Amino acid sequence: MAGKRVALVTGSTSGIGLGIARRLANDGYCVAVHSRTSAEAGHALAAELGDAVYVQADLAEDEDRRRLVHETVAATGRLDVLVNNAGISGTIPHADLQAATPEIWRDLYEVNAIAPFRLVAEAEPHLRAAARAGSPAAVVNVASHAAVRPKGASIPYAASKAALVHTTKLLAVTLAPDIRVNAVAPGLVDTPLTETWEDTRALWRERSPMRRAATPEDIAQCVTALIDSTYISGEVMMADGGLNLT
Ligand code: NAD
Repeated sequence: MAGKRVALVTGSTSGIGLGIARRLANDGYCVAVHSRTSAEAGHALAAELGDAVYVQADLAEDEDRRRLVHETVAATGRLDVLVNNAGISGTIPHADLQAATPEIWRDLYEVNAIAPFRLVAEAEPHLRAAARAGSPAAVVNVASHAAVRPKGASIPYAASKAALVHTTKLLAVTLAPDIRVNAVAPGLVDTPLTETWEDTRALWRERSPMRRAATPEDIAQCVTALIDSTYISGEVMMADGGLNLT
């Protein structure tokens, strides 16, 4: 297969996705940058990264999910790695059951659980083609520590990420040996999503063995470790600075 390996990173104009896109570009990938609305920032980032393309798509819409994969491959000619990073959250106290409406449940599931699965479904033939041409293919899903512990910004958010973790394991079995599928489960990460979460930041400073929240670069390092591995599949890499141990 000619040319650089290609990685599609969803939600890559801000936060963790931006850190992953920069890291993969630095590692020699052609990166497909994606965002829902910020096309200007997306084009600017693709220009900054050099060998990169930008595609806009609303991942709540199935037609947009399909178009994202197809436009990426049309522009780059191949797809070796898919990082399902885009996600939505929102704080709802767990005890306020009435506030977690069916509409909130559905919105979170569409973007956090259904979209990553649908992107893998669209990407599968391209990832398999890369693997069969000798370029190991990988999917990394960005889940959350809330997926594996009874924690998180809201119950629907935690449940949507738990669905993503289980989907990761099911797909790892289903798509092997061509495509490895893993997940990263971050604790608190300093990004626009958590800008105002001061109490949570204090918790990480005081209780986590690492004494701080993660940076997007910390999480990008986990993502590249899972991509670069040649044997790990179906794993969920907890990246919470050790908070779960205390
Ligand atoms: P962020 O808000 O900076 O990034 C989220 C990205 O997802 C944005 O680029 C946004 O445009 C994109 N997105 C959301 N809805 C979309 C849609 N319908 N269509 C297309 N794109 C959409 O937040 P972040 O903190 O960088 O989050 C990245 C991922 O990490 C998310 O999946 C989030 O759940 C997960 N995560 C974050 C933390 C944290 O503490 N920041 C912790 C655990 C997991």
